[in-house]
Amino acid sequence: MTHPHYDFFVIGAGSGGVRAARIASTYGAKVGIAESAALGGTCVNLGCVPKKLLAYAADYGMGYHEAEGFGWSAGNIAHDWHRLIANKNKSIGNINNFFDKLLKDHNIDFYNGFAKFVDAHTLDIDGKKITADKILIATGGKARKLDIPGGELAWTSDDMFFLPEFPKRLLIIGGGYIAVEFAHLMHGLGAHVDLAYRSSLFLRGFDDDIRLALAEEMETQGIGVHFHCDIEKIEKTKDGLKAHMNDGRTFEVDGILAAIGRDANTDKLNLDAAGVKASQGERLEINENYKTNVGHIYALGDIANDHNLTPVAIKEGHVLADRLFGGPVMKDRRVNYDNIATAVFSHPPLATVGLTEEQAREDGYEIECYKSSFTPLKHKLSGRDEKSLMKMVVDTKTDRVIGLHMMGLDAPEIIQGFAVAMNAGATKADFDDTMPVHPTAAEEFVTMK
Ligand code: FAD
Ligand code: NDP
Repeated sequence: MTHPHYDFFVIGAGSGGVRAARIASTYGAKVGIAESAALGGTCVNLGCVPKKLLAYAADYGMGYHEAEGFGWSAGNIAHDWHRLIANKNKSIGNINNFFDKLLKDHNIDFYNGFAKFVDAHTLDIDGKKITADKILIATGGKARKLDIPGGELAWTSDDMFFLPEFPKRLLIIGGGYIAVEFAHLMHGLGAHVDLAYRSSLFLRGFDDDIRLALAEEMETQGIGVHFHCDIEKIEKTKDGLKAHMNDGRTFEVDGILAAIGRDANTDKLNLDAAGVKASQGERLEINENYKTNVGHIYALGDIANDHNLTPVAIKEGHVLADRLFGGPVMKDRRVNYDNIATAVFSHPPLATVGLTEEQAREDGYEIECYKSSFTPLKHKLSGRDEKSLMKMVVDTKTDRVIGLHMMGLDAPEIIQGFAVAMNAGATKADFDDTMPVHPTAAEEFVTMK
C-alpha cells in the first residue's frame, strides 16, 4: 500500500514548525505537518500569548489604584478570573483558526495527531502513515515536574492558564522566566505570592544589578522572595497544600506552581527507529544546518536550540526552509544569533540585549558601565513606590555598546529598538549623538554620563 509522500514533513505545528512549513510551501514543495495538540504550539496556547494577556489583566488592576493619584475615583474594584480565562480562551481560539486557515491557504496537509517514526523516512500519525524525503522535528519542550514526595500535586505553567478557581495563596518554585513572570501576574491579580528559589539570586544569566533591583521591587510590592530555599515535600491539607522547605520552613497555600525548567519533547517520537541519537529530555544535537545525525532529518526550536524563545524558533524555521527549498541564492542563509534581545514580563518588566557586566568581564573586555536609577514620571503621581534602572556596558577599546539592560516601564519595547542599534555596531558616541525624545525613559540611554 502506498502512503502520501511529501518533499518536507514537519512534526509539531508550533512557532518553528509552522514557519518552516509555510516557507517551504511558498517555494513549491509538497508539505505536510502533524500536531498532536492545538495549532500554534506553546507560544500561542500555553506560553507567550496567554501569559501576556494575563499580565495585561494584572496591569489593569494596578492601574485602577494608580489612577487615583491622577484624580480618578475608581471605587471598589473586583476581578473575575473566570471571565478572564473565558475571554483568553476565545482569543486564542481565533489564533488557532488563523493558523488552520494559513495551512489551508498554503496547501499544507494537516494531520491532527501524534507523529512517531516508523523508519527514517516513514511516520505514523495516530495510525496514518506518511513518507517524506526530508523531515523536520519541531516538537518543542514540556514543563519539568517536581521529583519530590507529593510533587504531582504541584501545577506547571500549563495548568495556570486553565485553573478552575483563582488561588488566593500561591507558592512558586523556581527562579527563571516563568517563576518570576507568574509571581508578578498572580500578585497583580490579587494572590498572596511567595517565590522560593534554590540559589542566591534568581534570573541567572541576567545582569546582577537588574536581578537585585527586581528582587527589591518584589519585596516592596509584598511578594515573598525566599532565596536559598527549596522544596522537599508537598502534603495535602484540609484546605489546600502544605510545602515543606529545606530550611525547615513550611508554606500553607492553595496551590504550588513548579516553574523549574522544560525538557525537550523527544521521548515518544521513537527516534531509534529513524536512527536519530537522543537522550531522554535533552535537546537534540544538530549541526549549524539544523541537521541531526541522520542526513535528511532536521531539528530546530526548543527541541534543539539554547535560546528557548519564539522569535528564535521562527527565524530558524524560516532559514531552514529557505536553505532547503529556496534555490542557490538562499542556500547560505543563516540565523544571526548575536545580540538576541529578551524580556521578562514582570511588573516592572526587565529587558536585556548583549552582554551583562559579568559576562563582558569574563570574556576579557575592558569595559565601562553607565547606570541610571530613577522614579518614572508616571509614578510621581501614581503613588507607586517603583524605580527604573537602566544600565549600559561599553567596550572601552572600541567604544561599542555591548550590553543594554533595563528594569522599568516599557523596558521590552525600549530595548527592542536599541537592539537594532547594537546589532549595527553603534558606539557610545553614536548614542550620545542621538537626540533624545523627551520626556521618556528611553532617553536615558542616549544621555548617560
Ligand atoms: P513549540 O511551540 O513548543 O511547538 C511544538 C509543538 O509540537 C507543540 O504544539 C506540540 O504539541 C507538538 N508536538 C510535540 N510532539 C509531537 C508529536 N510527536 N507529534 C505531533 N505534534 C507534536 N518565548 C518568547 O519569546 N517570549 C515569551 O514571552 C515567552 N513566554 C513563554 C511563557 C511560557 C509559560 C512558556 C512555557 C514559554 C514561553 N516562551 C516565550 C517560549 C516559547 O513558547 C518557545 O520558545 C516556543 O514556543 C518554541 O517553539 P517551537 O516551535 O520550538 O516549539
Ligand atoms: P528556566 O530554565 O528559565 O528556569 C528554571 C528555574 O528553575 C531556574 O531558576 C532553575 O534554577 C530552577 N530549577 C531547575 N531545576 C530545579 C529543581 N529541581 N528544583 C528547584 N528549582 C529548579 O525555565 P522556565 O521554566 O522559567 O522557562 C523555560 C524557558 O522558556 C525559559 O528558559 C525561556 O527560554 C522560555 N521562556 C521565555 C519567556 C520570555 O521570553 N519572556 C517567558 C517564559 C519562558 P538554577 O538557576 O539554579 O538552575
